[in-house]
Amino acid sequence: MQVARSYVFSKYLVTFLVSVLVSLLVGGCVGIQPGGGFNLVSVQQEWRLGNRLAQDIDRKANLVTNPSSVAYINQLGQRLVQQTEFRNLPWEFHIIRGREINAFNIPGGHVYVYTGLIQKTSTESELAGVLAHEIAHGVERHATQALSTQYGLGIITSLLLGQNPSVYEQLLAQILGAGYLASYSRNAERQADQLGARYMYQAGFDPNGMVIFFQKLLEEERERPGLIEKFFSTHPLTEERIRNVSYEISRFPPRPDLITDEPQFHNFKNSLVRGDIYERDWRRVRIPRRYRY
Ligand SMILES: [Zn+2]
Repeated sequence: MQVARSYVFSKYLVTFLVSVLVSLLVGGCVGIQPGGGFNLVSVQQEWRLGNRLAQDIDRKANLVTNPSSVAYINQLGQRLVQQTEFRNLPWEFHIIRGREINAFNIPGGHVYVYTGLIQKTSTESELAGVLAHEIAHGVERHATQALSTQYGLGIITSLLLGQNPSVYEQLLAQILGAGYLASYSRNAERQADQLGARYMYQAGFDPNGMVIFFQKLLEEERERPGLIEKFFSTHPLTEERIRNVSYEISRFPPRPDLITDEPQFHNFKNSLVRGDIYERDWRRVRIPRRYRY
């Protein structure tokens, strides 16, 4: 009896020690990470994984490459990133050409926004609200937290070491297909709203832009269900969520210098529309042979 118990105990001890060793080998400090919550991925590993994913998305998604549009979205994103504790890491903002009204972040500071969503925004602060929300998911590391819970140590370890192509491909397919890694919890959404609103305020943007845009999407979804399906599947919007963030914003000290809109936003939006029409026509319109030269 005594022997059996100590055998069981030592078996547990060995399992424990092996898992500690594996976690040390992976280079992560398993457990509570910056950003809070359970995470099996270190910040350094996350950024490495993100770069790998972003390179593949680059090859496979229809990204806007026009330098002035890319520069604008990155400059807008950077103003918000500067308000976060991850301001020294290299963030990248990308535009995907597509009708989807959606935006998402993947591990390692990459934020993607669809042209369909940009078309729906009316002011710069509305677009800043979407970016700020995605940046907050990134700072809180919700994507790698979700992956940690979903996959567990064994799969995460082999994924990070590049030894599990099937999980990696699955991840990439999920991102490219639906634009999400995992649905975040209601709590994660609330956190992203609150933090995002704070980043906006600190960066000098009117945080109400976020509320106005979310309200607009919610109303449209009610009128024409299914239209904004993608955004709702990654970031379910509810009246309660919008009320909560409005309340948070009402507690910020008044700041008369907050920006709602800037002309450069409209230049960006217009050039994107022009670019889109051009691309669409180019693909669809076949020029008859006799007109070719
Ligand atoms: Zn969200």
